[in-house]
Amino acid sequence: MEFDFLPLTASLDENSSRVLMIYTGGTIGMEQDPTTGYLVPFSFERMLSRLPDLLDMGITLDLLVARQPIDSSNVSPADWITLAQTIKQYFEQYHAFVVLHGTDTMAYTASAMSYLLEGLSKPIVFTGAQLPISLRRSDGKENLMTALEIAVAREHNKPILQEVALYFGGKLIRGNRSKKVESNLFDAFQSENYPLLAEAGVQINFNTSALLRFKHTEFKVYDKLETSIALLKIYPGINERQCRSLFEDSFYKAVLMETYGAGNTPTSLWFSACLQGYIKEGGIVLNVSQCPGGRVIQGKYATSKHLLDLGVVSGNDMTTESALSKLMFVLANSESKMKAIQMLGENLRGELSSFYPEKSFA
Ligand code: ASP
Repeated sequence: MEFDFLPLTASLDENSSRVLMIYTGGTIGMEQDPTTGYLVPFSFERMLSRLPDLLDMGITLDLLVARQPIDSSNVSPADWITLAQTIKQYFEQYHAFVVLHGTDTMAYTASAMSYLLEGLSKPIVFTGAQLPISLRRSDGKENLMTALEIAVAREHNKPILQEVALYFGGKLIRGNRSKKVESNLFDAFQSENYPLLAEAGVQINFNTSALLRFKHTEFKVYDKLETSIALLKIYPGINERQCRSLFEDSFYKAVLMETYGAGNTPTSLWFSACLQGYIKEGGIVLNVSQCPGGRVIQGKYATSKHLLDLGVVSGNDMTTESALSKLMFVLANSESKMKAIQMLGENLRGELSSFYPEKSFA
């Protein structure tokens, strides 16, 4: 993904907030192709004509527009690295960043960004829309304007938000706790296992105690992700042939397993044998739940005790989106398998609730 720089507002006085808006694509900037009828990205200049208030907010606003805006279904880990590096390039010049992104994979990109950008002291707010901004009933305008207001909100001369978050339909959600749960209604995202960071109604109310605080560590931007990872959803009827083809393929450095309830799977001998062989050969299996609420507790049921014994790593209460990008991140940026496994269990960016000890059910 390549970007073109476009100054939007003339620089205001030195004290005004400077925001860089990064447009990657998504429904917010789409319109219907008159010949095919499909929704496709259109030029951002046309989108701006729908937002006259944008230039009138008292902030210095610049824009980076993707040369080829994408439907976020086409986003790749390579794009995540480009986005992180782009933010790094402009980090010192701006107080805050607003990223316009398609909703389909926004939770994945926001999660990945939370890992790639370490030691954040400034807001990175993702937003988008369910209906193109070119349409009268679009939710895009509210999402974009509120995302900007959140990005520039300050207290004691510091940004209130100091992490990667996603604003949509009145809710501000930690990026690596977000999940798209709705493709029709405007209330499209949910926060999994963590309170909202803010709610926007008549006022924007921040949930101060839920926000991550800058720890005065060095700002570091990573540029590596390991992509030879598979995602396996457990379902009734999952078969040996499918599992063997996955677990016997040494291409995969890790398998993210989406299990039932509190982390349960079938206990068939062939299934355990698949896991055992794969882990013995050096693979990592990370266990997250298919349930949007609750967490993995390996050993709570007999149907997860074998996972504990085999060395499957608990994903605790992480979302699938977050666990996937965390796996990519830790595998590419840790010196050993042991270190990678240790990092998977640690709370790196507020993505898991570290206060639960394994087996706390007793
Ligand atoms: N398919 C679109 C995308 O993710 C959906 C959206 O933006 O709402 O780019």
